[in-house]
Amino acid sequence: MKKILGVIAFVILMIAAFHVAHEFIQKKKEVDAFNLHIDEFNACSESKHWSCAESHLKFLLKELPNDTNLQIHYAGILFEEGRYEECISYIESRHFQVPDFDYLVQKSKLLIRERDELGIKDYGHFRLELEGYASSIEVQEALSVLEVAYDSIANLFQFYPEDRIHVVMYQTEDFQGIGPHPDWVGAVYDGKLRFPANLMRFREIYRPILFHELTHAFVHQMTRAKVPLWLNEGIAQIIDGSRTGLPRPNGPVPSLKDLTENFVQQNDRAAAERLYWYSQKMTEALLADAGETRFVKLRDALVDMKKLGTDESLKRHFCKKQGDLLYNFVGRK
Ligand SMILES: [Zn+2]
Repeated sequence: MKKILGVIAFVILMIAAFHVAHEFIQKKKEVDAFNLHIDEFNACSESKHWSCAESHLKFLLKELPNDTNLQIHYAGILFEEGRYEECISYIESRHFQVPDFDYLVQKSKLLIRERDELGIKDYGHFRLELEGYASSIEVQEALSVLEVAYDSIANLFQFYPEDRIHVVMYQTEDFQGIGPHPDWVGAVYDGKLRFPANLMRFREIYRPILFHELTHAFVHQMTRAKVPLWLNEGIAQIIDGSRTGLPRPNGPVPSLKDLTENFVQQNDRAAAERLYWYSQKMTEALLADAGETRFVKLRDALVDMKKLGTDESLKRHFCKKQGDLLYNFVGRK
């Protein structure tokens, strides 16, 4: 009898232990999932991939609906997505006050006013911000060129960005409007596509400039990987078409390191020209023989770059390595 009771007690103990272990594992899984969403939220926010950040933040808010920090982040994301009215009413429905909220409400109201004053109904795939004055005509012209560029780039890559592209048109007197990249004064993509409003007065050059910078925006939306500069600039130049077919510049062949690091701010004009030229040639060599879907392959290579790294991803999709692309010109040492 004692033996039987002992066995029963043992079994009960085992079941209880199993339950505790099961619950522990379950809890751990939940904690891991929660932490994963935090990591993803941080990574997406840092790279300004707002839709991605929003989806992770929504998960976190469901778990911790009263967390004020998460609510502040959520208001910030609504603002970054250009959803100004939603941002204001979300903040107004909170039960606490922080300086961040004051800033977001103020800035949202300003941007709504700016939008209303311009009288433009449809911003298409873009979110616009003005720094200083821009005429409604300049803005409309820019938006229509950008919309055409958007359609053709999206079609080429078969890629449709989740987020609206943030455009900043700013006012400057000293825009020269001369020459090809890297002389393009002030047009840049740094997470926002920035260009001087008066660029729109230079019909013959604004098209390649906007195509170029918008290509950078697409590449940025495709991946959170650090895309090597030669590839980023190479793609943008192929799409804008402004430098295709230029002869090989004089001077030393840049190293792969030179071509991978940031050379956009390069002050030496001849050196910058060389870096842009080799970037385009390397990218052309990458795409050569890749068939009609080469830009779709390129998209896949960019998407996989985060997981695989540059060389592995290029090898998988194009059977080529970046070093080889450069050596094609200079001969292997
Ligand atoms: Zn560029």
